[in-house]
Amino acid sequence: MNKNDKLHTENMKMTFIFMRLKKTSMASKQKVTELDLFMKQIKKKNPGEQEFHQAVYEVAETLMPFLDSNPKYKQAKILERIAEPDRVIMFRVGWLDDKGEFQVNRGFRIQMNNAIGPYKGGLRFHPTVYLGILKFLAFEQVFKNSLTGLPMGGGKGGTDFDPKGKSDNEVMRFCQSFMIELSKHIGADTDVPAGDIGVGGREIGFLFGQYKRLRNEFTGVLTGKSIDFGGSLIRPEATGFGTVYFVEEMLATRKDKIKGKTVVISGSGNVAQYAAEKVIALGGKVVTLSDSDGYIYDEKGITQEKLEFVMQLKNEKRGRIKEYAEKYGCQFIPRKTPWGVKCDIALPCATQNELNGDDAKKLTRNGCIAVAEGANMPSTLEAANWFIKKEILYAPGKASNAGGVAVSGLEMSQNSLRLSWTRDEVDARLKGIMKSIHASCIKYGTDANGVCNYVKGANIGGFVKVADAMLAQGLV
Ligand code: NDP
Repeated sequence: MNKNDKLHTENMKMTFIFMRLKKTSMASKQKVTELDLFMKQIKKKNPGEQEFHQAVYEVAETLMPFLDSNPKYKQAKILERIAEPDRVIMFRVGWLDDKGEFQVNRGFRIQMNNAIGPYKGGLRFHPTVYLGILKFLAFEQVFKNSLTGLPMGGGKGGTDFDPKGKSDNEVMRFCQSFMIELSKHIGADTDVPAGDIGVGGREIGFLFGQYKRLRNEFTGVLTGKSIDFGGSLIRPEATGFGTVYFVEEMLATRKDKIKGKTVVISGSGNVAQYAAEKVIALGGKVVTLSDSDGYIYDEKGITQEKLEFVMQLKNEKRGRIKEYAEKYGCQFIPRKTPWGVKCDIALPCATQNELNGDDAKKLTRNGCIAVAEGANMPSTLEAANWFIKKEILYAPGKASNAGGVAVSGLEMSQNSLRLSWTRDEVDARLKGIMKSIHASCIKYGTDANGVCNYVKGANIGGFVKVADAMLAQGLV
């Protein structure tokens, strides 16, 4: 080959590389544009619903490349259809307080998607509840329920009624009035609500009692029921326990364990309490818990005995976490979240967007190696992206907190069979489900460098089953 030929060949090579680069950069530009266009539509159709926009964005961002390589989903506009609720029900709830005064609240049920089973998802009673929060929760629920491998569609509901500071009778009257309307839209084979923030065993009991009275039927229309009337063992523990089982699975990929680790937990409600219990049982040290007033920092570690005090304080006395600090002589830090406390593992178990980008940086700077979300969407987009960038073990709620709805699914099965499984049986099934959700994340989320992006894994893993069912069922 003479000098000119060599030059020509080199030129051809460069042109080829340039064309490929241009094509790649055009393709990625095109992806950004598609995502932008998609989000523009979402925002236009759902104005002011920021939490919903955030949840949809997080899923769409990781799904778009997958859709590009699987055009059948794109042609059938599956993502657009999943982001549009099947039905949104909104209603007035009038009730009488203890002084005999009229009170009015707003009730909701979002029936998001029932491609793989009856709508399933909790009810939230909290003054911040509005459409944007419930639509984000219902959207997340579709993917989460699919990941469990059980036949459950996604839904969510609730009200802006605040049970805090209300008497048991006021809560009962509210629940009864709420159920008068809700009962028209739910049923064991249609839509099966459960608890969430502000809705525990007491509320589920009142709601179930009223449904039974209105319909004259004893069915598995709600989950999270007391064990005396159709509940499942391990249901109260399931979300917290499941989150910790998921952490054990993640740590095992790095040949590590919870034993001996320092764990920071936010919240002190249902999820936080049982996440703490399981961490303690596995030999970890829990040093914080919180509520909306601030957090307690117990350097010596929260023992099972101290945790029982918290359970009584929160579930029976309905007191504030500050009282823990007063009783055990540790620090209470008002109006702050616990993410600046040095730890190996962080479990946000309170509420959405409670951990921001700065908090995420503090955690990794302090040596945190794993974050698993017990709450739904507790990390902001910035925080989530930081964890992914730092390649720490980061599990999004739709994977790590799926244990709650999984055991709700098992409660539905037991109700249909009119059987009760033992504690060990339910716990073993829960462990198996968390293991298989983890495997699904690894399958769909492992990048070329061998690191698992659990957000991508959970989104694609949850999407595929629902999308295939939607394809098979036609345009409905
Ligand atoms: P609870 O009502 O039992 O507890 C909620 C806890 O979070 C309380 O400590 C509460 O403090 C705190 N909290 C609530 N809102 C805020 C806020 N705006 N700022 C700071 N703290 C707050 O609820 P759960 O434990 O059931 O739910 C917690 C999270 O887990 C939610 O995101 C929920 O969606 C999610 N989840 C729950 C499941 C379940 O089975 N229960 C299943 C899957 C996910 P305070 O008392 O002061 O309000």
